[in-house]
Amino acid sequence: MTDLARRCAELIRDVPDYPAAGVMFKDITPLLADGPTFGAVVEHFADVARRAGGVDLVAGMEARGFIMGAPVASALGIGFVPVRKAGKLPGPIMGASYDLEYGSATVEVHPATIEPGARVLVVDDVLATGGTAAATSSLIERAGGVVVGLAFLLELTFLPGRSMLGTRSLDVILSVD
Ligand code: AMP
Repeated sequence: MTDLARRCAELIRDVPDYPAAGVMFKDITPLLADGPTFGAVVEHFADVARRAGGVDLVAGMEARGFIMGAPVASALGIGFVPVRKAGKLPGPIMGASYDLEYGSATVEVHPATIEPGARVLVVDDVLATGGTAAATSSLIERAGGVVVGLAFLLELTFLPGRSMLGTRSLDVILSVD
């Protein structure tokens, strides 16, 4: 485990049975409240982007992907694309739906904010089933972008999230089984 992973592990709180029975919720608010660790996470993601050899945009999923992704874009001096839940963007929008355990969910973007061929790093807090990240990636690609990688604070390795992302490049600070 890296030093950064150890620091993150100490600052992520396990909340059993939230928001539903059987779910172990990973609460990142103590980490966000720790300035040096939050800053180190942002710098780590910015390094992922630099190593990807040029990134034009950071995309983050509502809502914690906004908190993680926007400062990465700012640190790199590039733009940020919010990937929102259905019905939050005024449009014109492009959307992608994916299956949940019960029902489905939709993510939406303003495709006009993604130039054709734009190289995009996708950032979120937790990779769980991978449904959100896979839908986000295919949405960005349909909008004309190129997903150069996905970066997460935490991967729940007992779930098949990673396998949902195909051959796309993946960076994870902390793995939890
Ligand atoms: P998934 O689509 O299943 O990979 O879920 C990813 C999204 O749901 C991320 O945006 C996370 O913020 C959130 N999420 C899923 N599982 C958890 C968990 N156990 N703790 C905290 N957030 C979670």
